[in-house]
Amino acid sequence: MADYLICGGNSYVPEDGMTGAQMFACGEGLTYHDFIILPGFIDFGADEVDLSSAITKKISLKAPLVSSPMDTVTESEMAIAMALCGGIGIIHHNCSAEIQAQEVMKVKKYKHGFIRDPVCLTDKHQVCDVFDVKKQHGFGGIPITENGKMGSRLIGIVTSRDIDFLEPNSTKLLSEIMTPFCDLVTMPAGVSLEKANETLQRSKKGKLPIINENDELVALIARTDLKKSRNFPNASYDANNQLLVGAAIGTRETDKQRLELLVAAGVDLIVLDSSQGNSIYQINMIRYIKNTFPELQIIGGNVVTAAQAKNLIDAGVDGLRVGMGSGSICITQEVMAVGRPQATAVYKVAEYARRFGVPVMADGGVQTVGHIIKALALGASTVMMGSLLAGTTEAPGEYFFSNGVRLKKYRGMGSLEAMEKKNSQGAAADRYFHGEKDGIKVAQGVSGSIVDKGSIIRFLPYLICGIKHGCQDVGAKSCSMLRSMLYSGELKLEKRTVSSQREGDVHSLHSYEKRLF
Ligand code: IMP
Repeated sequence: MADYLICGGNSYVPEDGMTGAQMFACGEGLTYHDFIILPGFIDFGADEVDLSSAITKKISLKAPLVSSPMDTVTESEMAIAMALCGGIGIIHHNCSAEIQAQEVMKVKKYKHGFIRDPVCLTDKHQVCDVFDVKKQHGFGGIPITENGKMGSRLIGIVTSRDIDFLEPNSTKLLSEIMTPFCDLVTMPAGVSLEKANETLQRSKKGKLPIINENDELVALIARTDLKKSRNFPNASYDANNQLLVGAAIGTRETDKQRLELLVAAGVDLIVLDSSQGNSIYQINMIRYIKNTFPELQIIGGNVVTAAQAKNLIDAGVDGLRVGMGSGSICITQEVMAVGRPQATAVYKVAEYARRFGVPVMADGGVQTVGHIIKALALGASTVMMGSLLAGTTEAPGEYFFSNGVRLKKYRGMGSLEAMEKKNSQGAAADRYFHGEKDGIKVAQGVSGSIVDKGSIIRFLPYLICGIKHGCQDVGAKSCSMLRSMLYSGELKLEKRTVSSQREGDVHSLHSYEKRLF
């Protein structure tokens, strides 16, 4: 009788599956592939599932999704898109401190619908320069300012119509063809997006410049953006209604100056970027940040064991980043012989950190939406992704074609290629070095390419919807309920043999097309 659970009346339901504690007690390292979640009871719609989740002690997101601080994944464009969709982006640090702070500032200054850094030219530029901009950026409405930059006095605008009948190599000056300031419809700085949109629609123009009291250009609104503009009811905002953004730094002395610039730019949280975070360098940096900027939220890591997590929690972190060796571009486990399979790492660290109210971010190894659900079911509060988001329109880098396939570069921050960039610009290799003086680089990552995935603005809603459906199947109405089901033992898991994994994949077909959304 002890093996049976009494479930009302005289119906007996045998115990089935394993609790998290049972599954991870065996000492084997498990990956997301190695187990499956058993379904629960559904008494709610998938759209009712609440995905709000904490990324640090003080910051919560509406969607538990984070883009990785990698130079082929997160700069301002990605961070803006992530935050608009309810997640957050962490700006990478493989660049100078000034550039990184500018990227943070672009996110903080972003106002939906307003273009804050449009390409500008002067009236001394020539028609061929407009064709160049069009070729490079794909748009034709260019503000003409005194010094050819934003923030300078607006003197006119050149649109596609002005150059329609001109040769691409024409050297005609823009002063001869532009629509001059006196004929432009403009709006004053501080105008609401609704009001600006109304004016744009009425004026039938393609672009509406926003200027300050000195006629200096502060933003631009484009009709094409207006047409595709949509609401983002779940966007991640701070108390001032600005989008949330994080930034990564290392643990060297120079990172303290970097930190100052990032704080001045308005960064909301700092990720201490190290592949093995349990170090004296990181502990010292956490203490320094907590003393210098007590309000700033810090995510420490990476860690994969409770013992590592303990040191960082004791030092005062507000969140933990978990993962070592599971990333798609990662060769850490192969080269260093150190790391941990990701499912085990997430479960072990989250199970420990929850006692201290420290949220855990599962970082790396996420290949599908199902892996996100598994990470959350193992106690993670948020999930950090690299490869899943690389290759999107918002990821840094240009698309290129190889054998007819449209690709973007995706590389590990510990790849030789990324570490070599450090020599001229920044400090990303710090993630993989802890003060060694021998100067020999040992690569922990590879450099490759990844298929075009379209825009994050379409991809993230798919991920979010998929997570909600997964939670519904499990019977969890929210991320926090999923975690409490894990710790109460209500959530049941089962290990998968290699053949069961094969069974769970598409099989027995001659050919098929796998379209996900
Ligand atoms: P992915 O989502 O599986 O592509 O993994 C992304 C994660 O891999 C990042 O968030 C980092 O934690 C980790 N990572 C980034 N670059 C490297 C590297 O060069 N070697 C090992 N791990 C890396």
